Amino acid sequence: MQNLEYAARVDEVKRRAHGRWTEILGSLGVEERILKKRNGPCPLCGGTDRFQYTDKFGEGNYHCRSCGAGGGFKLLQAAKGIDFNTALREVEQCVGATVVPRPAVATEPPAERMKKLAQRIWEEARPVSAGDEVDRYLGGRGLALSVYPRVLRFHPSLGYFQKDGEGKSRKLAEYPAMLACIQGPDGHGVTLHRTYLKDGCKLVAPDAKKVLSAGINGAAVRLFDATDELAISEGIETGLAVHLATAKPVWAGLSAGNLEKLWLPESVRRICVYTDNDADGDFDGQAFAFALARRLKKEEKQTGPREVQVFLPKQAGMDWADVWQARRQTLARAE
Ligand SMILES: [Zn+2]
Repeated sequence: MQNLEYAARVDEVKRRAHGRWTEILGSLGVEERILKKRNGPCPLCGGTDRFQYTDKFGEGNYHCRSCGAGGGFKLLQAAKGIDFNTALREVEQCVGATVVPRPAVATEPPAERMKKLAQRIWEEARPVSAGDEVDRYLGGRGLALSVYPRVLRFHPSLGYFQKDGEGKSRKLAEYPAMLACIQGPDGHGVTLHRTYLKDGCKLVAPDAKKVLSAGINGAAVRLFDATDELAISEGIETGLAVHLATAKPVWAGLSAGNLEKLWLPESVRRICVYTDNDADGDFDGQAFAFALARRLKKEEKQTGPREVQVFLPKQAGMDWADVWQARRQTLARAE
């Protein structure tokens, strides 16, 4: 981070100084005879006529037949016997003090790197199949399918990272994981959702479920292809439960906050939002489900009429995966 900031600062000074080096070097006390663009002694290595200041590229360029070529910074350092940092500060003062904003790349990995990482992890994983850890996990929650959605994959051993006290990400272990591809409006994967697993259950850890990179902004896990009808769930498991119970195509929005922003295809005319009942807590599930419903109704001017319904489990603290599991157990007892 230090280095990136420093490099950004150097770049900015160079940018501002470009084409102004003769004036800058003169004002900083480099002798006029050195800047004359005539052969003379080299301020770096001596001699009598091996050196010439040219400013050929507007970078304070010079050429020396003995020690080679260089630019304004090197020349300033040699002419005044100062180090690079001092030279940088002096030139900086000349061209105007620059406040370099902390570049975004310093605090979060660049989007391109993240995309490559997501791609690599996705390629390491394979489609979910009977008997693998994801199938065992979903089966244990009554959510087994004979054919799993292609947007879900099984990763045999995915690195599990946690931030240490200094905010640095450290790998603690590797676990099997369920991956879900999160797709943007154009259908391309924007990032991955990971659910770490252990012994056929969700890993017991503060962040056993997490999105690879922040800001999914309306993207969704398209568990099943939308028709003119689409059900929306918050989680992947609740989405599978809703599909098993209703046979509707389902997309998972992954977080209550993202639900409100969810992008939906124009072809969809009937939307059923299946939210968690967060009445035992902050009512987030309800709030964002109704915010989505309200947005969809407001957009009708552009989209044409849409039927929108919100479904909420009766009991506080329940989600639709809980409801589905309870229903299966009741049925099993009755048999
Ligand atoms: Zn020289």
